[in-house]
Amino acid sequence: MLTITAESAAAIAAHAIATYPDECVGLLLGRLNGTDKQVVRIIAVENRWEGQVALAEQDDPTSRRDRFYLDPRDYLRADRAAQAAGLEVVGCYHSHPDHPPDPSERDRVGAQAIAGPSFAFVIQSVYAATARDVAAWLLVEDGSHFVREELVVGGTKHA
Ligand SMILES: [Zn+2]
Repeated sequence: MLTITAESAAAIAAHAIATYPDECVGLLLGRLNGTDKQVVRIIAVENRWEGQVALAEQDDPTSRRDRFYLDPRDYLRADRAAQAAGLEVVGCYHSHPDHPPDPSERDRVGAQAIAGPSFAFVIQSVYAATARDVAAWLLVEDGSHFVREELVVGGTKHA
C-alpha cells in the first residue's frame, strides 16, 4: 500500500498542471515498511525526454507530451536528499495529460531501468490543466506488466 500526504498529492497535481500539456516527472520520498510505503515529500525533476525509448517510427521523438525520462543524475540527487532527511526514494510519479492514469506500454518499457518490485509508479491524470484521478502501480518482477497498488491520499482511499 502507498500512502501519500495531502500536501505531497497537491504538489504532484500542481506540477502536472504547471507542465501541461507536457508530462511532468518527479520522485517520491518517504519510508518503506515491508510493502507499505509512506510518501512524505516529493522532488520535482525535469522531464529530460530526448527520444531515449522509441517505440514507433511515426513518433515525434522530441515530444514530451506522452513520455518522460528520468535522468539517473536526478535520481542520484534525490537519493542523496532522501538519505540526508532520513528517508528513501520509494517511487516516482508522472502525469498523463488528457489521458487516464493507466500505465502505457512506453511506461512499462521505461520502468524496467528504474524500478524494483516495491517501487511505486504514481500517475496523475490531468485534463485541460485540471488535475483529475491519481493512481499507483507496481511493475511485476519479470517486468511484463503493472499491477494496481492500493493508494491512500491524506486518509482518503483511491481504488
Ligand atoms: Zn505514462
